[in-house]
Amino acid sequence: MAEEAILTDTSVQDQWGQICNQLKTEVGDTAFESWLKPLSVGSFSDGVMNICVPTRFMRNWVITHYSDRIHKIWEKKNPAIKNINFVVQSVQDDNRSLYNPTCRSLLKKITSTPAPQNIYQSGSSAVFANNNDSSLNDSLSVPLNPQYTFDNFVVGKTNEFAYAAARKVAESRNISFNPLFLYSGVGLGKTHLMHAIAWHIKQQDPSRNIVYLSAEKFMYKFVRALRYKDTTAFKEQFRSVDVLMVDDVQFMGGKDTTQEEFFYTFNSLIEEGRQIIISADKSPADLEGIEARLKSRLGCGLVADIHPTDFDLRIGILNNKAKQLGVELPTKVAEFLAQKITSNIRELEGALRRVIAHSQLLSDKEITLDMTQDVLKDMLRSYDKRTTIDEIQKKVAEHFNISVKEMQSSRRARTVARPRQIAMYLAKQLTSRSLPEIGRKFDRDHTTVMHAVRKVEELIIEDISLAESIDTLRRALDA
Ligand code: ADP
Ligand code: MG
Repeated sequence: MAEEAILTDTSVQDQWGQICNQLKTEVGDTAFESWLKPLSVGSFSDGVMNICVPTRFMRNWVITHYSDRIHKIWEKKNPAIKNINFVVQSVQDDNRSLYNPTCRSLLKKITSTPAPQNIYQSGSSAVFANNNDSSLNDSLSVPLNPQYTFDNFVVGKTNEFAYAAARKVAESRNISFNPLFLYSGVGLGKTHLMHAIAWHIKQQDPSRNIVYLSAEKFMYKFVRALRYKDTTAFKEQFRSVDVLMVDDVQFMGGKDTTQEEFFYTFNSLIEEGRQIIISADKSPADLEGIEARLKSRLGCGLVADIHPTDFDLRIGILNNKAKQLGVELPTKVAEFLAQKITSNIRELEGALRRVIAHSQLLSDKEITLDMTQDVLKDMLRSYDKRTTIDEIQKKVAEHFNISVKEMQSSRRARTVARPRQIAMYLAKQLTSRSLPEIGRKFDRDHTTVMHAVRKVEELIIEDISLAESIDTLRRALDA
């Protein structure tokens, strides 16, 4: 009875449609689009349902990851189905007898779609510019920023470790640590360092094949390769890579199939002694939605983080940038900017650019403190709105399990004094309040705040776990 029910084409299609809908909710859109959408039902006989898969690679994948589930769902819907068989229907099979029209239309779709070509050409500058790429590569190329070099990277206490690690990787021909994993909050120089490594290696040895791309691009490329049934070419591109850099891997969180592929690519490159450099907004262990085995792989080389900037680094960056742009930046203005714009370097540069643009538009009006304050009025106001000292006190108190009252009290016990200093430090970092204003909120004078800020800046360098706590707090507050 049941067997008869399935024999009609429409009921098979209906059931398959329902199964697809169910699978889609179970595995998520990306995995579904990548792996399950390209499948189609074929013939059914002796309790075996044939399902057409466009490539061998996909077949293996689908069998490992989804066949049990598909079988279970289908069996439940239709007990006549005892087994499921996955059949590769490649383009070359076009002339052979096909299971049913669905397969045929799928093949037609595949054959009429241009196949992607290799994107990265070994040893050519096209690696970066991707000028002669084709279908697959249109929006994928990630050109390197010529400004992001080691020369333009200002080194300070908060980034010197990451800088040293990046230089070491760039300069040594032998692999020293693999992977190099860089992490920090936004706008603190991860991408800059990665590009700097790439430029440096290219300069030393133009024949080395360096691939830099964001994790998002990696996923996109992968899914597209699947669509074009060209995962082999996809794999090939990575196989010939000497140095692979994947930026912002936190965006891979939750995308299981891409993670699998990334894991695979990653392992095979490492095994072959190729250098891998990864960046993320968190340490490998803290990455959300990333599989445990991938996390541990990511953390097995050298992990280097970039801390939030300190005042000196901000001054250094401002002066460096002004010099690059050929602009005279008065010390007072640099100090004002470095004091006010503490969240990240991108914003600091943005503010400086605004001030410079303003002075140049007004026919080379001199840059003064007054003018700077005026130009950045709105920006600083909205900046202030972001995080209040009250919020900081509350969050920090919560974190260290003390009350806000204790934080503001005169108690000097370490358990209270340290969180107080950290809250002051964060208030200086995350708001544009002056030292006396911050002091008032803690019932202290400005010298106490200044001392606290210095103390915490020192502690951050010495005590990694404290630095991490502060970073977590800063991110929570900055969100
Ligand atoms: P991330 O990738 O960590 O978000 P980026 O590398 O994009 O940060 O840096 C943001 C901006 O700040 C870029 O314009 C970069 O050139 C600049 N920048 C970051 N760190 C430094 C530094 N140490 N010296 C000079 N410029 C820097
Ligand atoms: Mg970046």
